[in-house]
Amino acid sequence: MQKEHKKFYILGNWKMQVRGTTAQELLVKTATLVASENFSPHLHVSVFPPFTYLDRARYVLAESPAYLGAQNVSSEMSGALTGQISILDLQDLGVFYALLGHAEVRALLHETDAGVAKKAALCSDVGIVPVVCFGADVTKTPAQHAECILKMSEGVRKMILAYEPIGAIGTGVTPSLEHVVDVVEGAHELLDRYKIAGEVVYGGSVNAENIESFMSTSVDGVLVGGSSHTAKVWTDLMMRANKFMQR
Ligand code: PEP
Repeated sequence: MQKEHKKFYILGNWKMQVRGTTAQELLVKTATLVASENFSPHLHVSVFPPFTYLDRARYVLAESPAYLGAQNVSSEMSGALTGQISILDLQDLGVFYALLGHAEVRALLHETDAGVAKKAALCSDVGIVPVVCFGADVTKTPAQHAECILKMSEGVRKMILAYEPIGAIGTGVTPSLEHVVDVVEGAHELLDRYKIAGEVVYGGSVNAENIESFMSTSVDGVLVGGSSHTAKVWTDLMMRANKFMQR
């Protein structure tokens, strides 16, 4: 008899690494696999392409149960903000998630917790689910991380928190499962205490070889960077996750 599984989230962050025929192939293969008959309904797959591919992604994924995410958004709804993308534009494009506070955005574009909080509240106002990254700064204590999470979730009714320790992003090195589970469960307690509906996922060097180890814990899902950038690697990862769900 098959085990009962809870929903498991797989979020693919393309960063600025995917374009052209690779982008098209990734979208088509994602749509096909996720819509296939034997793909588990408990796997919740989403892709986060660059802004310029959101429109195309919307069309390719339209008939599949895969979701669309954006990699960032402006902290303002509208205005004289050359080069920025409004939450209203994301809404028009059928975007379901917005990724906020990623370590790379914090480091390169000086994103702050206060900026993330403003963006998360905007998302919440228009019904887009913020995926809020935390944990990059390893000098912070667990209590300080908790404080940051709370600051970034004010006024938010529903969110995904993504624990992404900096040393694991793009390095091939993952922390111990025990550590990940500890942080994820701590973050869940906070969400429960403040009555925010949410999931807590882990991100950092997740691949087809290690995804099952995260699936066998209380972690709600994974945020995947590098292993979501080519169709073969990404579909291998999703098929491994699907195989785990069939057990
Ligand atoms: C990320 O970009 O959020 C990430 C986790 O990257 P990678 O999977 O490549 O470590």
